[in-house]
Amino acid sequence: MKLLRLTATEAARMIGEGSLTATELTAAYLEQIEKHDGDVFAYLKVTPEVALRQAEAIDLLPAGERPPLAGLPLAVKDVLCTEGIETTCASRFLENYRPVYTATCVKQVLSAGAVMLGKTNMDEFAMGSSTENSAYGPTANPWDTGRVPGGSSGGSAAAVAAGEALWALGSATGGSIRQPAAFCGIVGLKPTYGAVSRYGLVAFASSFDQVGPITRNVMDAALLMRHLAGKDPLDSTSVEYPDEIKLPDDRDLTGVRIGVISEISGEGIDSGVRAVIDETMKKLEGAGASIAEASIPHAEYALPAYYILAPAEASANLARYDGVRYGLRAASAGGVTEMYEETRSLGFGDEVKRRIMLGTYALSSGYYEAYYDQAQKVRTLIIRDFESAFEDFDFLVSPTAPTTAFRLGEKTADPLTMYMSDICTIPVNLAGLPAISLPAGLSDGLPVGLQIIAPPFTATKLLQAAFSAEAAIGFDGLSPLLEGVEEQEKPGAS
Ligand code: GLN
Repeated sequence: MKLLRLTATEAARMIGEGSLTATELTAAYLEQIEKHDGDVFAYLKVTPEVALRQAEAIDLLPAGERPPLAGLPLAVKDVLCTEGIETTCASRFLENYRPVYTATCVKQVLSAGAVMLGKTNMDEFAMGSSTENSAYGPTANPWDTGRVPGGSSGGSAAAVAAGEALWALGSATGGSIRQPAAFCGIVGLKPTYGAVSRYGLVAFASSFDQVGPITRNVMDAALLMRHLAGKDPLDSTSVEYPDEIKLPDDRDLTGVRIGVISEISGEGIDSGVRAVIDETMKKLEGAGASIAEASIPHAEYALPAYYILAPAEASANLARYDGVRYGLRAASAGGVTEMYEETRSLGFGDEVKRRIMLGTYALSSGYYEAYYDQAQKVRTLIIRDFESAFEDFDFLVSPTAPTTAFRLGEKTADPLTMYMSDICTIPVNLAGLPAISLPAGLSDGLPVGLQIIAPPFTATKLLQAAFSAEAAIGFDGLSPLLEGVEEQEKPGAS
């Protein structure tokens, strides 16, 4: 059997009924990591001893008593704190940092039985769109190792696409779950702001940050999301999800009103991507949906507003890295000010420094009103744009990204071009809405993602629509690394 081809849902059933052990499945993933992670570099740290210990504990439980995610191997983005296990955010600053606690969302999925394979590579402090801002080197896209996997959750997306994890946790501030999922031909769900606890998620821009699932299909995303959501007393911005998040159960799109956001679906989008999305709209129409043009009139201001607000929040959040409280401290410094300066100069990479400078500038006296205040007003306008669009449509769609995966190094010299990678996803984060990216097809052999956006706290409906769209699209592409997996002997199986 090709163990690595099982979906989480299938593997959960087999482990639950006892026809597959958690150890067998975990060992298969560790073997794939061993084989391919030298080329992909999805993981900053693999934790085989943790994974196998968790798997063995699951296997000792009687078949009927296994928790719902029992034995399902998970990759965790290195922005999430894991007690006693290095959590670096791909920064030199936190090179040897071992948190004393585990992020709530990680705790939730591990206590539901998931097995942690390791911590994945990312852009430093989640700032970037290609994983090339990692202080430890870039991750490669499993579809073409000369290309980026997207970012900032590029390690998590690459791990899932390469068969180096069954599923993964990512985090998004501006698009870091959906965009890498799109580049790697898999599914990424950004929940409504507040749905998932941020406790133990290293802060980038706190009014945007959310953790979400990166998976091979929509059903698996739903399964993982059910265990991520919930109010956490340790994060006062988290809320009790208003209703139970249900697993999708039918594939019908009849009567569903879908609006294609014109501002982020036409101009500025590669023709190859556009062709796939046009084709996809026909398929959704064929499945019963009604498709029309929608408008988010202020979408063109989303990117500039984001690049004021997110750096402003980042500059405040990153003030804690001062050489005193966490991680790195420059050795040679004389006085305390010098120590701060030298530590921060050494510890942060270029992009992080750029954000701190942008953010401090935007917040400084005399400029605050001109930049930060204005950007907040734009944010409100965008929220209203979405509210009024949802009066006419059940869901809004667009491509997830304006291009397919670009070449490693192609955009590193030009931060603005890199920032443009997120034009389709950032408006959604400004409005705090839930959205999912699912693979829609290939353009020149590279995956294209369809983004589906929903009103706040409607995960069940969003997942149901995505599940239906997935069937209508019928994409079954696998990265060459997953396509090429061999049959695995199941010990004890005849
Ligand atoms: N690429 C965007 C940025 O660099 C979004 C990153 C993210 O969502 N974490 O800010």
